[in-house]
Amino acid sequence: KNAKAAGERYAYYAPAMNAAHSVRLELENELRHALEARQFEVFYQPKVDLGSGRIVSAEALVRWRHPQRGLVAPAAFIPLAEEVGLIVPIGALVLDAVCVQQAEWIARQLEVVPVAVNLSAVQFKQGKLLQTIRDALERHGLEPQHISFELTESMVMGNPEEAAYNLKALKALGVQLALDDFGTGYSSLAYLQRFPFDYVKIDRSFIANVTSNPGDAAIVTAVIAMAHSLRLRVVAEGVETEGQLQFLRKRRCDEMQGYFFSPAVPAAAFEAMLREGTQLRAAGSGEEGDTL
Ligand code: C2E
Ligand code: MG
Ligand code: MG
Ligand code: MG
Repeated sequence: KNAKAAGERYAYYAPAMNAAHSVRLELENELRHALEARQFEVFYQPKVDLGSGRIVSAEALVRWRHPQRGLVAPAAFIPLAEEVGLIVPIGALVLDAVCVQQAEWIARQLEVVPVAVNLSAVQFKQGKLLQTIRDALERHGLEPQHISFELTESMVMGNPEEAAYNLKALKALGVQLALDDFGTGYSSLAYLQRFPFDYVKIDRSFIANVTSNPGDAAIVTAVIAMAHSLRLRVVAEGVETEGQLQFLRKRRCDEMQGYFFSPAVPAAAFEAMLREGTQLRAAGSGEEGDTL
């Protein structure tokens, strides 16, 4: 009777917090189960060279095939997975799935392109990342150029000394490194030059209004120019329109990724694109007059 009274009192002052807590616990349990039940899938989104129009690489993007809720996007579970450490086994699973796929494609003599895997700061802190990557490459007989990695600026800004050390070690494996979501943090390209990145990916929030917002246009133009002067290649994320594409071509952006060409698709659909040599149409080489 006392316990019940206490329970009622608790429920009286903290029902919302309690509910949120149990939702998180439930999601965490579901994620653990999903790992065992192999409910995670990797989708592939092509990155296209703006000069040749050809697919030159892909980004691996994780999806959760939930038995009731269908395909769940990473935004709905990656943050919690990072908080509770489950991003480590999920990340290892994504890397392994990508390696299995690349090895299978190579065995079937498909002309493969490098596949970029997103890394979370938590995976670095856990300490076994390099060994996990080395093991995965070796187990599947892959070369470092078959895989690349994407990291965000918040990852390197937290502890720059440690990040520089970790990134150099990662780079020493022979893989390419990209700085993801550039522009959403507070760092400058000049500062980030001390890290061994090969690519900068301009965040899609800058691309979205690049043809209508002069501020965004100026930022994108400047980032491309500065990245090039620092010998970094530039990928524009979230390209959805022909206009955005033209803008980027004129400014000599190197690669684009976005719904205008293709969203992330299952491995079989990506394979079909590679096989058929699906190309970005060459319409408008960017030589005609500026629209902005
Ligand atoms: P990200 O690494 O910046 O990946 C790009 C995101 O932009 C993807 O969302 C992609 O589907 C989306 N996108 C691409 N083109 C367009 C476009 O034209 N328009 C719009 N509106 N969106 C576009 P997604 O797949 O939902 O992934 C979201 C984020 O989740 C990723 O952002 C990445 O930070 C994280 N993530 C995804 N897979 C993994 C993973 O395996 N490991 C880790 N640690 N994080 C992952
Ligand atoms: Mg990414
Ligand atoms: Mg990004
Ligand atoms: Mg992102």
